[in-house]
Amino acid sequence: MRLRHLAMTLSKLPAHPFREPALEQYGTDGETAARWLFSINSEEPFEETDGIIDLGAGNGILGIGALLLGAPNAVFVEIDSEVCSSLQMAISSLNLDEKCRILNGDVSSIVEGQLTRDLVIMNPPWGRQTPRADRPFLDAAIKCANDSIHLLHGRGARHIEPWAEAAGWNAKRWMEVDLPMPAIYSHHTKKMDSTEAAMWWIKRPAR
Ligand code: SAH
Repeated sequence: MRLRHLAMTLSKLPAHPFREPALEQYGTDGETAARWLFSINSEEPFEETDGIIDLGAGNGILGIGALLLGAPNAVFVEIDSEVCSSLQMAISSLNLDEKCRILNGDVSSIVEGQLTRDLVIMNPPWGRQTPRADRPFLDAAIKCANDSIHLLHGRGARHIEPWAEAAGWNAKRWMEVDLPMPAIYSHHTKKMDSTEAAMWWIKRPAR
């Protein structure tokens, strides 16, 4: 699938309902998701992995994008049951049901060995509403990823590299983007605003 086509397909997914500000449900836009996933795929093709885990999946844009680029399957973890319903719609609208599993639950309750795939992809809460809200995601990602964690976070985040190093992993800043944000989070009267974001590629050392 070409970049333009992927960006268009992802932009048309049923939108995240954005009901619960405390859960920091600001999603990745189709253009950003497509560019990010394309750049990952050109380095390490999704089709050569055993699958993807999308933590804090929202409408599933990241996992679905990986599937459209060739990932064999995806597991989506999302705490908000209403969001899970729009995720299910998104999956069915693209006839991807057979490759997908949705877990409606809290990433904090994932235990070691319960759920593993080569890759974890996530745009977790950044901790702007609730300090350290991203930490359960970082901990869960380490339990889930056999090979790499792909993380989207605020560009100003300084704790990613030290956290990865402490865990014995290697974090590399991979891309930077201006992420469009819905007005409910921007505290401005403009309809859309953007926030500075960055992507990290975090690799497990060879075992
Ligand atoms: N991955 C999507 C959504 C990102 S927003 C995208 O990139 O567009 C973050 C999502 O994480 C929200 O849908 C929110 O409901 C969910 N979430 C927040 N805390 C969670 C937790 N503890 N466990 C699982 N999901 C959580």
